[in-house]
Amino acid sequence: MRIDYELKLDFDDVLIRPKRSESPSRAAVVLRRDYEFLNSGQTWGGIPIIASNMDTVGTLSMARALHPEMMTCLHKYYSEESLLDFFRSEELRQSVFFTLGIQDSELEKLRAVHRRVRLKHVCIDAANGYTKYFVQWVQRVREEFPELTIMAGNVATPEMVQELLITGAADIVKIGIGPGSVCTTRVKTAVGYPQLSAIIECADAAHGLRGHVCADGGCRTPGDVVKALAAGADYVMLGGMLAGHDECEGEWIERDGRRVAMKFYGMSSATAMEKYAGGLKNYRAAEGRETTVPWRGPVAATIQEISGGIRSACAYVGADRLKDLSKCTTFVLCRRPPGVVSHGTAMLGG
Ligand code: 5GP
Repeated sequence: MRIDYELKLDFDDVLIRPKRSESPSRAAVVLRRDYEFLNSGQTWGGIPIIASNMDTVGTLSMARALHPEMMTCLHKYYSEESLLDFFRSEELRQSVFFTLGIQDSELEKLRAVHRRVRLKHVCIDAANGYTKYFVQWVQRVREEFPELTIMAGNVATPEMVQELLITGAADIVKIGIGPGSVCTTRVKTAVGYPQLSAIIECADAAHGLRGHVCADGGCRTPGDVVKALAAGADYVMLGGMLAGHDECEGEWIERDGRRVAMKFYGMSSATAMEKYAGGLKNYRAAEGRETTVPWRGPVAATIQEISGGIRSACAYVGADRLKDLSKCTTFVLCRRPPGVVSHGTAMLGG
């Protein structure tokens, strides 16, 4: 057993220091990012926010609403026919990820859909991206589809980011073990990594190889999205912040014939397992929970709040472009995690 005494931070542990600047107004801040991907050689341009591939949030309606500026990672439970209908009738491929897990049947579905409609982006999603099998699976998808931009995860440490970019030949690595709003991995297994530090360390590793990272999970406010981007995330994926909108699918709670709330649950929760896997397997614990979120109307208003927050943050630190936000950022530590003081020394009590 070892203890890592180095201070690791979550979103709540920091704020961003304002800086004097000559920058024009916040309206002039450029939010668009343009990326060229390491292994697919493809390019993408837009505002780097992605709707999570949770079955309530990563929906076809969400993809229509966020297109063309932002992206949607479609959940993996749509049938081949619905995906074909969607991709045939709408030119949204630039802003949509097809999601698959690590089952042969999911790879088969990718083959069938891609053969007919030529996808651009895929997300290979596993709760635990640390297995050798997962890296080999990503590698296998890459070999078969050299032209697709591949996002793969989740992991939270730099050595696995490098492994997925180099051996797996992914383009974007998804970062986040345990930070999700309806995730219970940290309480059920004690495994996790504070998300702000995970982003800082993983972005550094990825950028050194010309790869990209997507910060996935733990953003509850526009300010958290700003912190993720300022920490070096190339994309930020959102679940809970996009839940409860008209574009979501799922069970709505109504009062007097009007929507008031929506059921929102983790994809590893008992609810999701019942729905898609015929119940919880007897060798594993649910690592997600169910909650309700209030109805919030069309997603456009929330999106405006998020992009407004990013714009304003850029203006506060003197970044004319979102691209410059990270290098213009100084995080200030505003809450000391219990038991830890600076210089990596442990302290009893705290
Ligand atoms: P949020 O934006 O809601 O904080 O986090 C969304 C992310 O939480 C998802 O994109 C996914 O990576 C993660 N997630 C979703 N469902 C579960 C779950 O049941 N268990 C765990 N451990 N993570 C989940």
